[in-house]
Amino acid sequence: MSKDPSTLLLEHHLKVLKLPTFVRDYASVAAACAQERCDYPAYLLRLTERELIERERKAAERRIKDARFPVLKTIGSFDFKAQASINEPLVRELLVGEYITRRENVLLVGNPGTGKTHLATALGHTACAQGRRVRFMTTSGLVTQLLEAREDRSLRRLLKQMERIELLVLDELGYVPFSKAGAELLFDVISRAYERTSVIITTNLPFENWTEVLGSERLTGAMLDRLTHRVHILEANGESYRLKDAKARLKRR
Ligand code: ADP
Ligand code: MG
Repeated sequence: MSKDPSTLLLEHHLKVLKLPTFVRDYASVAAACAQERCDYPAYLLRLTERELIERERKAAERRIKDARFPVLKTIGSFDFKAQASINEPLVRELLVGEYITRRENVLLVGNPGTGKTHLATALGHTACAQGRRVRFMTTSGLVTQLLEAREDRSLRRLLKQMERIELLVLDELGYVPFSKAGAELLFDVISRAYERTSVIITTNLPFENWTEVLGSERLTGAMLDRLTHRVHILEANGESYRLKDAKARLKRR
């Protein structure tokens, strides 16, 4: 059955007004409302609610995509019992997201395999759902990108882009030492983020060893000064989850 002209016109107007959920649902909601005898404002309320919910869902989806998490890990799949060294109440508090409003940082320090990346991703993921602009990068990935941007004269643009981020997650500081130029560029990013962007850093290195990857003691001091001015520290010092998992599997065999 072909649609009558007023229906076609209505759908056209709704599309122009960018109300896709109206287009999809107006007829079914009208039928439901007719049955429940709700009035016109109630009908409109239902439709606008649906449109808003759908819009928010899409925006969160986009933010998660833009954050570029390597693997999607959420807090739901994190087993706090398996990693007793993690301060669970602090993680729960951070998940509320106030630290981002206050531009505070989070340092996740601990041995490999203790769930640092998992937790950093979960915090980032939750922040996306709360409407924050998030970006996840490995620290060495960021440094490479900065060096390349400087090479092709797009550094200013890259730094400008990064200013829009509300939560920057830098994973794995400590596995690869940086060149002098690389360390300086990283310092530049951290300085710019100071009191403007929240930064989460995961690292296997205790603070006293950061010079090993950053080179200069002076630069390390200045960077730690900015990072730790307003900081929450989560330490993970248990056994590697991967190792424990592998051992358990071996035992079963
Ligand atoms: P790290 O970054 O500290 O090296 P990861 O976060 O990459 O460790 O954790 C290694 C793997 O083990 C990941 O697949 C992660 O999801 C998983 N994992 C680690 N700790 C836990 C935990 N407590 N509960 C559930 N999964 C965990
Ligand atoms: Mg990791």
